[in-house]
Amino acid sequence: MEPASFPQLPCFPCPHRAACCAYGATVSEEEAAAIIADHGDGKVYRTRWGEWRTRIKAGRCVFFVDGGCAIHARSYYPAVCRGFPWRDAETGGPYEYDRTICPEFVLRPELTKVYPFEPPRRKS
Ligand code: SF4
Repeated sequence: MEPASFPQLPCFPCPHRAACCAYGATVSEEEAAAIIADHGDGKVYRTRWGEWRTRIKAGRCVFFVDGGCAIHARSYYPAVCRGFPWRDAETGGPYEYDRTICPEFVLRPELTKVYPFEPPRRKS
C-alpha cells in the first residue's frame, strides 16, 4: 500500500551532486519531441532498442545545470525523474529499479522499506 506521504529527501540542494542524474533519463516519445522542439536534437537520442534518453555530459544528464535540473519546471520534465525514487513512471506503482543510486538510500536503509517494490508473483 502506498504511504500517505513519502519521507523528505535533500534534493534541493542535493548533498550528493544529484547522483541520480548520472545516468541520464528515459523519456517518452512525447517528452523527446517536446525537448527537441525547445532545445534542438542534441540533448536526447534514441538507443538501438528504440528508447529515447537524455544525453550525459561530464558525468551528469545534460539538463543538470548549476546544481539543478534545467527542465524541472517544464511540462516535459521526464515522468521517470518526477517519480524517482518512489514511483515507477510506467506502472505508477513503486519504483522498480535500484534506488540506491540515490545515496540517501545507502545512508538511511530504512527508506528502502517505505514503499517496497514487490515483483508480481508468477502463476504456477
Ligand atoms: S533523489 Fe537522492 S541523489 Fe537524487 S537529487 Fe534527491 S537526494 Fe540527490
